[in-house]
Amino acid sequence: MRQIFDIHGGIHPPERKDMSNPGWVRDCDMPSKLILPVTQHVGSPARPVVEVGDIVLGGQMIAEAQGPVSVPVHAPSSGTVTAIEARAVPHASGLTDTCIEISLDGRDEWVGFEGLDNWRDETKAALLERVRLAGIAGLGGAGFPTAIKLASDRDGGIHTLIINGTECEPYITADDTVMQCFAQQIVEGAEILSHMVGAETVLLAVEDNKPEAVDAMRQAAEALEMAEVVTFPTKYPSGGEKQLIEILLNAQVPSGGIPADIGVLCQNPSTAIAVRDALIDGKPVTHRITTVTGRSLKDPGNRRVMLGTPIKELLDTAGFNADSADRVIHGGPMMGFAVTDLDMPVVKITNCVLAPTRTEIPPPQPQQACIRCGMCAEACPASLLPQQLYWYARAKDQEQLERHNLMDCIECGACAYVCPSHIPLVQYYRSAKGSLRETAKEKVRSDNSRSRFEARQERLEREAAEREAMRAARKAAAEARAQAGDDPVQAAIERAKAKKAQQEAEQ
Ligand code: SF4
Ligand code: SF4
Repeated sequence: MRQIFDIHGGIHPPERKDMSNPGWVRDCDMPSKLILPVTQHVGSPARPVVEVGDIVLGGQMIAEAQGPVSVPVHAPSSGTVTAIEARAVPHASGLTDTCIEISLDGRDEWVGFEGLDNWRDETKAALLERVRLAGIAGLGGAGFPTAIKLASDRDGGIHTLIINGTECEPYITADDTVMQCFAQQIVEGAEILSHMVGAETVLLAVEDNKPEAVDAMRQAAEALEMAEVVTFPTKYPSGGEKQLIEILLNAQVPSGGIPADIGVLCQNPSTAIAVRDALIDGKPVTHRITTVTGRSLKDPGNRRVMLGTPIKELLDTAGFNADSADRVIHGGPMMGFAVTDLDMPVVKITNCVLAPTRTEIPPPQPQQACIRCGMCAEACPASLLPQQLYWYARAKDQEQLERHNLMDCIECGACAYVCPSHIPLVQYYRSAKGSLRETAKEKVRSDNSRSRFEARQERLEREAAEREAMRAARKAAAEARAQAGDDPVQAAIERAKAKKAQQEAEQ
């Protein structure tokens, strides 16, 4: 039996997971239209490869990856492209993004797919290219391009693959449902992933509040010798990658580092299935399983949803009562953000849409002064000092924010949850992180322009020195020739003198 370790901090908010009846998934009704943002992942936006008026089929690529950190977008059903323009998208920033709108024809016609007969015979590069072309980005909510994560080849390689089925955030049961319904596909995906990165051990990690998922995963794991199902006590946020690695391996990812630095790769169960589907069936990511829950819904549950489905249409399939809803949240109550426009679409990172009533999740209370109680530091799973980070964020003291490792904050919200002064700490951290990223980008820009200026100065000085050296060489050669009596200038002067003397003599 594997030893399990504890993490610093953490909290136990009410789970409310039974509300969405985990373990049962239904198809969402076909929407009238799809709105597909070109950025549903971390990295550069994909570039549209269709135009308004084009007819597209399900599975067809409609936007191609642009740059190394990017993934393509595929049509989830057949129809006509009716717009390519900026629309509201689900993102904490509240900014708009270019979206491709498809009016569906209801026929649901698809392109043909070609999977690999034997993925073990392929090179890693060929497998990575398939993963990239399938548009796979972390489906647990992080959205990082999976091919990039699989390609990161640090010293010592990857020894352990963790399939992260923790799903510690209240309300959300999408991963629980995926593990109960598709355990075999997850294990197949885990086998492919471990082959690609050379991992010797596969840990299928599930919190102990999901006994049905644990049973399903144990049964499926019998087909993969290197796989082991590991359960551990329920605590939020055990599902953070760094926290989970600490729980399972008692190992710390260095500050500012990634799991690959210590030979570990974490993947979400749905991402493992997406990799399996891309390689074995040749299918891109076009749908996902999303929890739609909250007391404003008559029929909450887990739905298999086409990407691009407007959130309003998804809510309506679950019996949404807009009058009783206080707000709609994209994601869970701890890390999610308010949906400002119900026309916003479901995207690759949409693991939950939550529509609570006002009494269920009361609106935030007015912020009061920090009383320096230290409860935030006790709750922080990253062992940070949230109170100090708050002061430095308010003071915009970037040096101190860096020194206090703000970028290691996983924005779990545990500190804000326990804060008796109701300070929206995560909002301060998000904003401060944005400023730090901007400063870092600005520094890169100014370093680049300084390097360009210095290179130009160096070139000009080198060219001037070369010209001066050539001039000195010419002068020295002329002097040498003059001393040797074969100075061409002196000779020309002598010839001119002789000619003049001859002309005078002839007169
Ligand atoms: S929990 Fe809130 S009030 Fe207490 S120290 Fe932290 S920020 Fe201040
Ligand atoms: S949001 Fe950041 S600072 Fe607050 S508890 Fe989570 S990791 Fe710590």
